[in-house]
This record gives sequence, C-alpha cells and structure tokens, in this order.
Amino acid sequence: MQGICLLGATGSIGQSTLDIIAQHPEKFVLVSASANKSVAKMADICRRFSPQRVVMGTQAARDELAQQCHGMDISFEWGAEALESITADAAVDQVMAAIMGFAGLKPTLAGIRAGKRTLLANKESLVTAGKLFMDEVARNDVMLLPIDSEHNAIYQSLPQTSHGAHKRDVSKILLTASGGPFRTWTLEEMKSVTPEQACKHPNWSMGQKISIDSASLMNKGLELIEACWLFDVTPHDVDVVVHPESIIHSMVSYLDGSVIAQMGNPDMKIPIAYGMSWPQRIGTNVAPLNLVDVARLNFEAPDLARFPNLKLAADAWFMGGTAMAVLNAANEIAVEAFLHRQIGFLDIARLNERVLMSADIVGVSSLDDVFDADRAARQLALDMISRGSFS
Ligand code: NAD
Ligand code: MG
Repeated sequence: MQGICLLGATGSIGQSTLDIIAQHPEKFVLVSASANKSVAKMADICRRFSPQRVVMGTQAARDELAQQCHGMDISFEWGAEALESITADAAVDQVMAAIMGFAGLKPTLAGIRAGKRTLLANKESLVTAGKLFMDEVARNDVMLLPIDSEHNAIYQSLPQTSHGAHKRDVSKILLTASGGPFRTWTLEEMKSVTPEQACKHPNWSMGQKISIDSASLMNKGLELIEACWLFDVTPHDVDVVVHPESIIHSMVSYLDGSVIAQMGNPDMKIPIAYGMSWPQRIGTNVAPLNLVDVARLNFEAPDLARFPNLKLAADAWFMGGTAMAVLNAANEIAVEAFLHRQIGFLDIARLNERVLMSADIVGVSSLDDVFDADRAARQLALDMISRGSFS
C-alpha cells in the first residue's frame, strides 16, 4: 500500500490523481491533501477519501472546511508551514506535486528533502529553481517521475534501468506540442482573443493557467526548460514538433536513427498512473487508442514569429541564473492580467520579453536568489502593466 500526499488536490491533475486512487484502493491510500481556497471540492475529497491531514491556503478556508466536515477524524490545517510538513509524514510514500505555479516550489522541495518519491506535475518549480531542484533530488536519492505528459513520454521512451530512465545513446529529444487553439490564426486574429477562447484547448482539459500557457506556447517554453533540467540536455538537444492531434506525447531519437515514441489518448490519468505505479503499470479506464479512428497524424514546425514565448524560454535557458525564474514570474503576472482583461493576448509575450530583458539576472546560489528574482520580476511586470509601457 502506497501512501499519497496530494498537493493541489482540487485542481485538474489533483482530480485525475484521486480518480486513479479510487480505481485502485488496494494499492493507494490518500494520506494528506492540500488546496488553496476550494472548500466545497475539498469537503467532497474529505468525505470520499478520509485523509489524515488536509492543508488549506488560508485560515478562513480552513475554518469553513472544518465546519463543513464537522465530526470527521481529520486534522484541518492551513498555511505554508503545514503545507511543507504534510509531505514529510511517515505514512507518505509518494508526493504528487500538482500545485499551480511558483507557489508549488517550496512544498515540492520539502517532499524531496523528506526523501519521498516525487511525481512532478508542477513544472514551474523545476523551471524556476532548476539546478537547486535537481541537486536536492540527487542529494536525497529521490525517485523523480515526470507527470507532464511530454516528459512522461520521453521518460517512457528512454532506456530503462532499475533506478529509472537513462539518456544513453540519445541524439535528440523530440518534444511535441499541440499548437493550442490558435495554431492556425494570424497575428491580426490573435490580437482580440478572449480568455474564454484561450482556455478552450482542442485536446486537453486543464486548469486555467496552463490552458492560457498552451495557447501562447509559453507552456512549450516552460516544458523545453523542464526537459533540459530533467534529462540533463540543452535546448540544442531538443526539437519542438507541432503535432495537432496530441496522440504522440513526445519522442526520443537515437544515434542509430531509431525514434521511439509514446502514444495514447490525451488523458493525464495515463502519465499519473505511470508515475504512481512505476516500475509496473496499472489500469486507468482511459479508452484504448484506436489508430484507425485517428487515421492521420500531422506534424509541422513551430512558428516563432507568431509564438515568441517559445524562443524566450530558450533565451532564458542560455542566459542562465535567475533568468528562468524571471520569465516564469513575468508570465504568471501576464496570464493573471490577461484573465482579468487588463492586457491583450499578444501582450503576454511582449510583457514576458520586456521583463526578461529589463530585469537584473544574477547567478543562483540559494533559494533566496530565486525568491528575490521572482519578487522583483513580478513587481517589474506589474509596474509595466500599470504604466502600459511594454508594448
Ligand atoms: P489547477 O488550476 O486546476 O489546480 C491547481 C491546484 O493548486 C488547486 O488544487 C489549487 O487549489 C492549488 N493552488 C493554486 N494556487 C495555490 C497556492 N498559491 N497555494 C497553494 N495551492 C494552490 O491546475 P492544474 O491544471 O491541475 O495544474 C497543476 C500543475 O500541473 C501546474 O503546474 C501545471 O502546469 C501542471 N500540469 C497540468 C496539466 C493538466 O493537464 N492540467 C498537465 C501537465 C502539467
Ligand atoms: Mg505538457
């Protein structure tokens, strides 16, 4: 029986993880769960799974939850310290890191420092603190399994050892991208897209922020950086391939010319179940892939002129140090402003570029450097938005 600590339980990845736990009650038990403010959803999780500890983002949310779940034998807690501490409980074997954004960094690291198997959905934590993050994984001899579907596919397509996947004999990583809802739109057409249009992903059902990131290709930019840290490569070793059907989830090209791909219907339960059950496989209830129905798989190159975020991510990687934390912070502010209709869709990439070019980039020697860069970049982005000085 594997004890699961689920960070971000009320989100899209959180719900799919609960689905896998519910399908395999003899294999997994929910030990603890966290959410920011979604009290009703968390109350439902408490009733269905009876975890030992639950952590909410605010005291008000905790109090309301405790009231709704009155009489249940659950410890209701709130705040950053509690969030980090649930990852380290003895009953926890695996931590699913599925908080959205930079807010996931400290709790994800806490699980790694506690030596728990880490299932990484929260790409922003690896993107912003890459080297420190991977150093902690190595120091604590932690099994890190990527849940992001592309990275999970790469992991599955690499040679396997008893300690996980290895990069032996690889010539290129082929990172696939759906291209998002605006893949075929002109810049003129993209000028006036609404948050509702941007959130409507053609193949995947996901949280708001990653849906916007997919539409702007920032998600692929973050994933490019994520791949570089996870698989110890540089953007020169990764080709982004647009594949609108999202059936191939990514590929590995080998020295001899062989290319190994992982395929499946686009449903996050597949990579989640892979991470939870590795090195075995378990059922997911995802419909089997019917290639005759799919009929055709298409591929094209990404258009960096219409989607400059992808190039910005590669630039940030080569700038190094705090550049990736700066880009991520600018993007989190830009997405929030776009969702609140304060800036247009194309402004997201403009703001990201201006912040990346204007911020002080320094080397990263401690987590404080990452947090300082994040804070300063958020402020810079907010100032630029209020002055309208970024386009
Ligand atoms: P979501 O918005 O649906 O859910 C986010 C979860 O994090 C919620 O439980 C929310 O309560 C919690 N949360 C948000 N802000 C928080 C904060 N400040 N402090 C504590 N908790 C907070 O997001 P999602 O789509 O499930 O994505 C979660 C992570 O997984 C993201 O990093 C995303 O990039 C990554 N991811 C998601 C998908 C997907 O299909 N949804 C695929 C690949 C990677
Ligand atoms: Mg992905």
